[in-house]
Amino acid sequence: MPLNLPGILVPFQLLWNPRLVLPHVVVKDIRQIDFLALRKAGYRGAVFDKDNCLTIPHDDRAVPELQDAWKECRDAFGEGNILIVSNSAGTRFDDGEIQAESVSYHLGVPVLRHESLKPSYSCISAIRTYFSSLCVPIKDDELIVVGDRIFTDVVMANRMAQGTASPVDPGTKTHHGPLAIWTTGVWKRESMAMRWCEKRLVDVVSRWTDDARPESVSAKSRFTKNLPRVSQSRKDMD
Ligand SMILES: [Mg+2]
Repeated sequence: MPLNLPGILVPFQLLWNPRLVLPHVVVKDIRQIDFLALRKAGYRGAVFDKDNCLTIPHDDRAVPELQDAWKECRDAFGEGNILIVSNSAGTRFDDGEIQAESVSYHLGVPVLRHESLKPSYSCISAIRTYFSSLCVPIKDDELIVVGDRIFTDVVMANRMAQGTASPVDPGTKTHHGPLAIWTTGVWKRESMAMRWCEKRLVDVVSRWTDDARPESVSAKSRFTKNLPRVSQSRKDMD
């Protein structure tokens, strides 16, 4: 895993904006996400992390248990409106972009090529360039950002929200920017100490900021569903 300087610097920004670590929706994995409900609510595009969100790290295929949910997602949004943004595939450490090609082939959606790792503003800019270049451009407000890491995926989604100036439609949305969805399940153990710290931090910030976050309560009830069953072999953080 390459050194992620943008991620390492996140704690300094948290000193004046701790809410950056708070997701809107928390799920075990993508099987709990109601993609059709999201689409009906006006979300038109999705940014997905790869490792431990869709695939096992160093594997380019979707985890078998997630394949039905992944198809539901592609059917709901359309394959061109989903973008994989990984800190492995598609980065400058991906020699010849071979992994990006392989991930794109196996997951059936494009992989962002980006110089700077998540959650950098330069990576955010590359994401915006992709979605604004579509035949029917997609705005930040119409995106969901799904990932298993707070300091990369969730912080990136919340940084995108900070730069969003469009008015909130009280009929459909209660917050600015993308919907940040945090997947807490771990398919292959990695960075467990850091994950533990991230989870504790989310708990503490939620309490400190007295974060009832009505939009989160609403989003959870509207956009999640029960897991069909939990795999026996599955490792969870809980
Ligand atoms: Mg990940």
